[in-house]
Amino acid sequence: MERNHSFNTTEVAMPSQSSYLELSLDEWIARFGRIYGKRHDKHTTEYMISRLVEEVAELVNPMESQDKGQIAPNLADVFSWTCSLAFKLGIDLSLIAWQKYGQNAPRPTWSPEFSTQASLQEFTPPSTLHQWQQFISKLYQQENLRLTPTNSLVAMMKDVGDLAMLNRKRAPADQITSKLAAILAWTLTISQLLQLDLATIVYEKYDNHCPSCGKEICDTDICHPFKTIFVSFAYDTSDEVKYVLLDSAINFGLKALVNSVQLAANTRDLSFSLDLISKSDVACVVLSSGLEEDSQYKQIFDVLACYSTLSKGNVWVFSKDVTKGLANYLEKAFADEKIIVTPFKDPQNLKVLFENYLQGLNLKSTK
Ligand SMILES: [Zn+2]
Repeated sequence: MERNHSFNTTEVAMPSQSSYLELSLDEWIARFGRIYGKRHDKHTTEYMISRLVEEVAELVNPMESQDKGQIAPNLADVFSWTCSLAFKLGIDLSLIAWQKYGQNAPRPTWSPEFSTQASLQEFTPPSTLHQWQQFISKLYQQENLRLTPTNSLVAMMKDVGDLAMLNRKRAPADQITSKLAAILAWTLTISQLLQLDLATIVYEKYDNHCPSCGKEICDTDICHPFKTIFVSFAYDTSDEVKYVLLDSAINFGLKALVNSVQLAANTRDLSFSLDLISKSDVACVVLSSGLEEDSQYKQIFDVLACYSTLSKGNVWVFSKDVTKGLANYLEKAFADEKIIVTPFKDPQNLKVLFENYLQGLNLKSTK
């Protein structure tokens, strides 16, 4: 039986030019935090978990067809979302994973006797992804003999489902972090069973930047296609103004999601707004120039929801008179948000201003 599975870097053959192989798990998490952290600031934990669920589900087809070329980038995506979640939630994933697997590793019920397993005292805490992969596969070498990549994926899907459920039920943080460590362990196990090196496949897809926009800090405006615009009108918005905005949006290839509810009578009206905003990439709100209070609450909600969900530069607020009423209130009361209200004289002037913004959007996405 092998003793002292020490994972010092000297033991692992590493080409010196391939510095990604030397990155620790913590450094990978920091790297994904840098690339996507700004983007994920706006995302809820629920959203991020649902993206992780999607990525794991995307492994099913290539796994069924045993298409390694497709499995590798998908596995890299699972790792990327795991890191992004750890970064967003401030989870020390390497510490949690070490506490979970380095001290009293959970074993399946069908596991062989503990005595046949590598002794935990034989390991030192892994640092690089390669070391983590070696550690997890040595720890579970007996179990892995009976595991196929597909039933590992099924087990990972269970843990991802548990993660979503625990988060929804507001479970204690340690249960959530423990699930994230389990998902990492399955990612490493599947890599090992398919004889893929996780560090290499992650590097091949992500290197040091977002693979979609090519930037070291993902530029959401370039990366994310603009397809849908949320439009909110006030109770006193003229038909001409409505027509001008919707016509321009359609001419720029945007699908408009119009919130026709102008008063927030109950929370259902607010969640209807939120649903439309969360399906949108950009937003346009025309503020009322009147002083109808019921309508103002709804408009304040719409503007703030747009600012908190979408990129600030992609939310356009228009008002006929910015010196009084809502426009003035929004700019002052939410000064930190730096809400910009663009004044317009008449529908034709609004058309020019709106199309200027849309033009800017097109330039950003084709850069
Ligand atoms: Zn990007």
